[in-house]
Amino acid sequence: MPTNITHAIPALAIGLGIGRHILPLKVIITGALIASIPDLDMIGTRYFNVPWDSIYGHRGYTHSIFFAICTALITALLFSGVVNRKHFKRYFLFFAFCMLSHGLLDFCNEGGLGVAFLWPLSDLRFHSLVQPIMNVNVSFRGLYLSTSGLPVFLSEILWVWLPFLALYLILKYKLIDQLKLNILKNKTTLK
Ligand SMILES: [Zn+2]
Repeated sequence: MPTNITHAIPALAIGLGIGRHILPLKVIITGALIASIPDLDMIGTRYFNVPWDSIYGHRGYTHSIFFAICTALITALLFSGVVNRKHFKRYFLFFAFCMLSHGLLDFCNEGGLGVAFLWPLSDLRFHSLVQPIMNVNVSFRGLYLSTSGLPVFLSEILWVWLPFLALYLILKYKLIDQLKLNILKNKTTLK
């Protein structure tokens, strides 16, 4: 699996890129935190002998689209208020993105079983044919306190951090709008 820091990156990039006037900082931070919720299934596999390939094992039901939507729905209701539901739609969409990004990163990760995206409709596991993100197969100590975690971080920086940094800059500085404006200006000058 990718590291939990990397699971927070899509939420931070999109949230901060869109801007705090649309998504308050506490919503962005919550999005970054809930993006790691699916991996709580590791408790079952590590401490309660739940088989890896069980739907209750790692990358099972907690990584499904259904679970992502339910978690996003509850979190958005908590933030927007159950009664007046202020900003509910935008919070829900953001939290759903954060949750779904987890499954998508795991989908592109070389380790473990595939992701049960379609639970409860199907227990089928999905794994990308191309899996550029390296698997974390070292201990916590090895990952963060030694050089053995370096290749993992390098692969995550290359395939997740940098693309999302680019996305953050595009959103933050409205680069697409500026590009359109420049094209329009050039056309007007040519006329
Ligand atoms: Zn996961």
